[in-house]
Amino acid sequence: MKSTQTDDRIKIAVQKSGRLTEHSMDLLVRCGLSYSRGKDRLICYGENMPVDVLLVRDDDIPGLVQEDVCDLGIVGLNIVEESSLTLRADGATRLFEKITPLDFGHCRLSFAVPREVRYESPESLAGKRIATSYPRIVSAWLDKEGIDAKVVVFSGAVEIAPSLGRADVVCDLVSSGETLKAHDLQEVETVLQSRAALIRTPVELAPAKSQWVERLLQRIGGVLQVRESKYIMLHAPRSALKEIKALLPGSEAPTIMPLEGTDDKVAVHAVCRENVFWETLEELKEVGASSMLVLPVEKMLA
Ligand code: ATP
Ligand code: ZN
Repeated sequence: MKSTQTDDRIKIAVQKSGRLTEHSMDLLVRCGLSYSRGKDRLICYGENMPVDVLLVRDDDIPGLVQEDVCDLGIVGLNIVEESSLTLRADGATRLFEKITPLDFGHCRLSFAVPREVRYESPESLAGKRIATSYPRIVSAWLDKEGIDAKVVVFSGAVEIAPSLGRADVVCDLVSSGETLKAHDLQEVETVLQSRAALIRTPVELAPAKSQWVERLLQRIGGVLQVRESKYIMLHAPRSALKEIKALLPGSEAPTIMPLEGTDDKVAVHAVCRENVFWETLEELKEVGASSMLVLPVEKMLA
């Protein structure tokens, strides 16, 4: 039987070892979590928050959250989508409560064909054998396009299916495209754009737990915003203020301050909610800005 103490703690499912692990743990640490790792290395116990992290295979995360074994989970939208389609087909009515896209794990689920094959449109897939680990997503896409093809399920190493003679086409995750190239495959059509996302149990949480989840969600929002944001300081001729404000990416109301010993120049400080690139600084300089400084933002709370 679970102790009350355990029930009061928020459980977050995170990939045990893979592409999402480091980013997921880093996000939680940036939200203020410090933890110690259990002896079996399958659970990280939060030391300063009632939050424990369960380390599992990414494919198991949606199920754990949907069944309320975990309150939250961090997993790719590709897995979320495939699991949702599977759970719905199995008659599940309650899936995930909330999905917050995160800023890592970017990839896409794409069709790829052997280099020598000509691909013109989705019609080119008709009658083909398609190897994939995402049979539900692929079948749904084929249905939508009105294409009849055979979906062959591969649980890994999808890209070798054509050279083994097991499939004509693959539908797999791609980020740089290097893996496809190494297997003489060309990417021809994207089915789904994916990145990591936070999912939440469909079950209502006890007030104490719910408060902590809300706090964590707010902190996650803050971390994501901060990673995109920059604090910019510059000197500007008063006459160019309008143009300069228009150039500052995603800034709301900049602070304008007088500069000692001059009336026609002012200091401008602004939080830019998008990254500030060299090009922007060069454009600012062209309209008269000088002494520009771009600083990272450490924390942000609206
Ligand atoms: P597990 O052992 O947990 O089942 P896995 O081998 O299925 O791991 P990884 O290869 O670690 O999973 O990928 C985890 C997730 O990372 C993917 O589901 C996807 O959301 C994301 N991802 C980002 N880029 C890529 C990529 N190039 N190839 C595969 N996955 C990617
Ligand atoms: Zn997996």
